[in-house]
Amino acid sequence: MENITLSEIAGLGVGALLFCATVAAPKVDSFISSSQRRNLGMCRRCGDLRMIACSNCKGTGLVRNGGPFGFSLLDDLSQSLGDGQNPISSKPCIKCKSKGCFSCTECSNKRVAN
Ligand SMILES: [Zn+2]
Ligand SMILES: [Zn+2]
Repeated sequence: MENITLSEIAGLGVGALLFCATVAAPKVDSFISSSQRRNLGMCRRCGDLRMIACSNCKGTGLVRNGGPFGFSLLDDLSQSLGDGQNPISSKPCIKCKSKGCFSCTECSNKRVAN
């Protein structure tokens, strides 16, 4: 293998770079995606998905009974302990009409403007 051309070396370099990018992706994903979205002119709120997960029900479309603090740490703890005495009941999320997400307002504004 003495006839390695420059393009082959470049190919190896790109391959190594891609490999590093793939390995590091989960760590820097949020950082890159936000700057990438800006560069690509994508929506910063939803990344052009035109959907935003509902903060009230965490995108599940269901809210646990017990009011707005149903997702408290204590609640999660008692659920994971699984005492079985108090089964978690849930109701459709009113905020998102149990869809789990909203249409992105920034995108809809953009579309109206266009
Ligand atoms: Zn919701
Ligand atoms: Zn959007």
